[in-house]
Amino acid sequence: MSAAGTPALRAASVERLSRSTFDVLVLGGGINGAVSAAALAARGARVALVDRADFASATSQESSCLVWGGIKYLETMELGLVRKLCLARNQLIRAYPSAVREIRFYTSHTRGFRHGRWKLLAGAWLYWLLGSAFTRPPRPLSRATMAREEPAVALDLLDGGFEYSDAWLPDGDARFVWGFVRAALDHGCAAANYVEALGSVRQGGEWVTEAKDLVGGEALRIRSRLVVNACGPWADRVNGRDGIQTEHRHVLSKGIHLLVERLTPGGRVLAFFADDGRLFFVIPLGSRTCIGTTDTPVDRAEVGVTAEDRAFVLDNINKRLRLPRPLTEADVVAERCGVRPLVVGAAGGGGRDWMQLSRKHAIETSPGEGRVTIFGGKLTDCLNVGEEICAEVQRLGVGLPFPARGWYGEPPAALRDEFLHQARLMGLDGPAGAGAPEPTSLRLWRRYGTEAFGLLEAIRRDRRAAQPVLRSGEFLRCELELSAQREMVVELEDFLRRRTELAQEVRRDDLRQDPGLQEACAILFGEGAAARRAAYLAGPSGPDRFT
Ligand SMILES: Cc1cc2nc3c(=O)[nH]c(=O)nc-3n(C[C@H](O)[C@H](O)[C@H](O)COP(=O)(O)OP(=O)(O)OC[C@H]3O[C@@H](n4cnc5c(N)ncnc54)[C@H](O)[C@@H]3O)c2cc1C
Repeated sequence: MSAAGTPALRAASVERLSRSTFDVLVLGGGINGAVSAAALAARGARVALVDRADFASATSQESSCLVWGGIKYLETMELGLVRKLCLARNQLIRAYPSAVREIRFYTSHTRGFRHGRWKLLAGAWLYWLLGSAFTRPPRPLSRATMAREEPAVALDLLDGGFEYSDAWLPDGDARFVWGFVRAALDHGCAAANYVEALGSVRQGGEWVTEAKDLVGGEALRIRSRLVVNACGPWADRVNGRDGIQTEHRHVLSKGIHLLVERLTPGGRVLAFFADDGRLFFVIPLGSRTCIGTTDTPVDRAEVGVTAEDRAFVLDNINKRLRLPRPLTEADVVAERCGVRPLVVGAAGGGGRDWMQLSRKHAIETSPGEGRVTIFGGKLTDCLNVGEEICAEVQRLGVGLPFPARGWYGEPPAALRDEFLHQARLMGLDGPAGAGAPEPTSLRLWRRYGTEAFGLLEAIRRDRRAAQPVLRSGEFLRCELELSAQREMVVELEDFLRRRTELAQEVRRDDLRQDPGLQEACAILFGEGAAARRAAYLAGPSGPDRFT
């Protein structure tokens, strides 16, 4: 395979942006924009999708990577919302049996907490029932059970706990979003990262969006019947710039996570109630543990982790786990920081307890404008967003040639079994994969689906294709080649942080010094390798590039 994949793939999309008239232009390639584009493209609409940076490089790469039914909204008795989110979770688990997986939440209960342990356990049962008993049932945890099963949990202040199920994204949120972008491309969507929408005006019954290709520098003019604004925390700003009035708006809440060495061997999420009374998680993320999160009102989307944020997270975890020594800032391998775009009525936002603002989404069409905005939402609810956008686009007069076509989900189980069988016959999970956190074949299937058959073919042709390129991670040469061809990797950070989670598992300075980095860049960028590598090396040191 040549390294010309990404430039060619992206250039073809960018060229089409100016040449074609689209049914729908989607602004913003986070989860909401990605599912909108994937659903519309699969159902036959002419769709364009642009993001001013990389796909999923904003809120959708900073989440807790949980697919959850919103157990905490039971406290505010939002039973309808919990039921809806649980069903959305179940649907994702069913559609993505490898990439969205049930996981147990091992929840500690502190003596004297505002709700008693049995009441919370009853809540967990209600949660399970609201989720149609789809997952494994909850169970109570005595202190003795907890001491045996999760010895890292500090028991001094606890009277026990309970365990329940939700789900999680083993490859992380940004990779999950990328799957939808790739699906949109497969159905003919003109999708391009690093294309910024500068402003849209209505001309002769269509939208004309001025945009800029931030890679090539050219100005673009994109014509479309409808515009879907999926700019997340920036959606209000983009609407304001285009003179669009809406009934909803966003308020923003910052949340951070810290990545540290694996704290517990178990494959569970440890859940606690933090000092502020909110649920606080210790989540497995690859070879690391992800701890968080916080919930701080902010008035702008461009935020970074502060010393206070770090102290809050470290302090809470040090109180709740029995560690050989307390965690300090020096233990932080990487950080995550994003703002939740929370939807409120145009005039509202301050009336409710901040932490109890629920994470619903709203899809609003501005009258007579052919302009749709997606407010709020969660990764968990993404399939509903895709469906609702299709319905809204049809209501606005854009016919979808294949209105009932499925647009999401992994390939059939029979294909997966065939792939895993072939991989086994080739000895892919043999000595080469020993010591890896999971069999290579499972990871390849989860990440690439049917494209993974091509990886086997590459390995059959040349066994060196099965060698890892980077010291820091298990990614094989053939995977990098596939990524170069099909995954629109423009900057090295796109690969290290979003197509993979390497930048969350390995300290930035260690990645920089990885002897395989040069070769990885050569595979990913061909002639542009030196420049891309230099750009990455010139970036900020340490875990936090925002502060
Ligand atoms: C700390 C935290 C934890 C969370 N945990 C979970 C969780 O565990 N489970 C869950 O389901 N949800 C979770 N969420 C919520 C979820 O992450 C967000 O609701 C979701 O990612 C928002 O996606 P989005 O597409 O609306 O916005 P974004 O992902 O922010 O995407 C908006 C995109 O628009 C682009 N853009 C902006 N302006 C322009 C322009 N002018 N031209 C082109 N592109 C533009 C941006 O570059 C960006 O990529 C969490 C959120 C946070 C902050």
